[in-house]
Amino acid sequence: MQEKGLLIVLSGPSGVGKGTVRKEIFSHPDTAFEYSISMTTRLPREGEKDGVDYFFKSREEFEKLIRQGKLLEYAEFVGNYYGTPVDYVRQTLDAGKDVFLEIEVKGARQVREKFPEGLFIFLMPPSLTELKNRIVTRGTETDDIIHNRMLSAREEIEMMELYDYVVENDQVDLACERVRAIVTAEHCRRERVEHRYKKLLEVE
Ligand code: 5GP
Repeated sequence: MQEKGLLIVLSGPSGVGKGTVRKEIFSHPDTAFEYSISMTTRLPREGEKDGVDYFFKSREEFEKLIRQGKLLEYAEFVGNYYGTPVDYVRQTLDAGKDVFLEIEVKGARQVREKFPEGLFIFLMPPSLTELKNRIVTRGTETDDIIHNRMLSAREEIEMMELYDYVVENDQVDLACERVRAIVTAEHCRRERVEHRYKKLLEVE
C-alpha cells in the first residue's frame, strides 16, 4: 500500500513573512514537497499568474466552491476569500507526496480539525523576542502604547498553541533551514515509520 504524504502547514500572524519563507523554500533545488496553490477572490498583483500564484476566482465562483465542499479550509482576509482546494490536497497525499500549505491562522485552525496528524509550523515574528526588553529598558513609550503592543504580542503568542513547532523568522534563510529540518525529522518519527520495520521482522 502506498504510504501517505505529509501535510505541512506553515502559518503565523499577518506580516510575519510566510510568503517570503515559502518562496525561498520552493526555490531550493532539494525541496521535494508540492505546493498547494490556493484559490482567492483578490485581484492578481503585477506579475502574478492564474494557476501559478493563485487560482483567481470571482466571489460567486468561490462561494459555489464553498457550497460544493471543494475547499479544505477557507477564510476571509482583508475583504477577500482565500481557500485550499481539497481534491488536490487529498490526491497528492494519497500519491505519497508531501503537500505544503502557506495559509493564514483561521484557515490553519480548520485544517488542524480535519487533519490533526498534519505538521503545523508557526512562523514567529522576531520582533516579539526583543519586544518586552526594548519596551522595559527604553522607557520612552506611553503606557497606552506599551499596553497595546503587549496585548497584540500576547494574541500572537496565544495563536501558537495549535501548532507543533515554532520557527522564528529572524532571517529568511535560517527560517527555511529550520522548516526543512522539521520536515526531515517528522519523516523519521517513530509512529510514521515503525510499521515498515516491523514488516521486515514478519516471519511466514
Ligand atoms: P496575499 O494576498 O498577500 O497573497 O495573502 C494574504 C494572506 O492570505 C497571507 O497571510 C496568506 O498566507 C494567506 N493565504 C494564502 N492562501 C490561503 C489559503 O488558501 N487559505 C487561507 N486561509 N489563507 C491563505
